[in-house]
Amino acid sequence: MNPNFTIGRIAGIRISLNWSWLIVFAIVVWSLVADVFPAEDPGLSKTTYAVMGVAAAVVFFLSILLHELGHAIVARRNGMEIEGITLWLFGGVAQFKEMFKSPGAEFRIGIAGPCVSLVLGLAFVGAAALTTFSTALNGTLFWLGYINIFLLLFNLLPALPLDGGRVLRSALWKAKGDFAWATRIAATFGRLFGYLMIAAGALSFVAYRSVGSLWLALIGWFLLGAAGGERSVGRVHEALEGLHVRDLMTREPVVAPADATFSEFSDSLGALNRHNTYPVVSNGEVLGLFPFGAVDGHPLGEWGDRLVREGMIGRDRVAIFDSEDSAEDALDQLVAGEIGRGLVVHDDQLVGILSVSDLKRALDQRTAFRR
Ligand SMILES: [Zn+2]
Repeated sequence: MNPNFTIGRIAGIRISLNWSWLIVFAIVVWSLVADVFPAEDPGLSKTTYAVMGVAAAVVFFLSILLHELGHAIVARRNGMEIEGITLWLFGGVAQFKEMFKSPGAEFRIGIAGPCVSLVLGLAFVGAAALTTFSTALNGTLFWLGYINIFLLLFNLLPALPLDGGRVLRSALWKAKGDFAWATRIAATFGRLFGYLMIAAGALSFVAYRSVGSLWLALIGWFLLGAAGGERSVGRVHEALEGLHVRDLMTREPVVAPADATFSEFSDSLGALNRHNTYPVVSNGEVLGLFPFGAVDGHPLGEWGDRLVREGMIGRDRVAIFDSEDSAEDALDQLVAGEIGRGLVVHDDQLVGILSVSDLKRALDQRTAFRR
């Protein structure tokens, strides 16, 4: 089951909600209605607190969406493709389809979200301070200003994958020109802040028994995991550094003729020659990939007369690499794709096939070598 559902598009960017968001939305409304607003603005009716709570929570989540849109729009201006924005448990995540193109691009994309939060925070605080609408409206505006400033400061912690961590990594990356090293440092900060938050949350829960301390520990735990993920991505890139697709691909793969039938092709393969997929060619032209699962293990029967070209995955749905492409870029594309393998061509000729397992083998060898 997909935990995210799409609610719409803004400027062509897909906006999704994670189911966990519904729970958080309910908790935020409840804590605003039951605790925050009665303490901040005493003496109002229960209905007023309920309206304030729902309105503030809706605008708060719109603020998070605007923060993420800030990242996404600047990313697109810097030539990066955007997968979409997902709102979930701890706010929002803008998903990028590829790696940052340069330290400057990562800096601009990383700082764009906090800039949006700063503008929103100042606007709400300003509106609350300079106007006197009603206690309820001013109280709501004040809380929105406060929460946006809080969001800004939290996101600016120099802890990857938070925005401040991106800013830190881009600065380190720029200073030394080494992406993997910069990732390692910024992700270590991420794990450090994760441990600190868990410890602080646990201690304050023992002392005060407040729900807020559990939230702090939970956010720390999330940060710890996310920073670990960033660190392993950094390690993979480090291990693939300087390698090209030609170094890792399987050369001269067995090909499936587009106009052979399933049974002809199956018979032509020796017992030792079983792979998962085969490039499909016709008159030297590469047409796509033939998944052997379509043949293997099935009694051919009525399928036996079908042509390979009818069962193949077309070229438009398969990653195509040049043998001179960098292994790091190829990995990003293979991981983002659905098939986990791609065709390697050079001068319009098929020269090999590259799969995630080819890259994994290279990684295992390199890390074993280093030990
Ligand atoms: Zn952000």
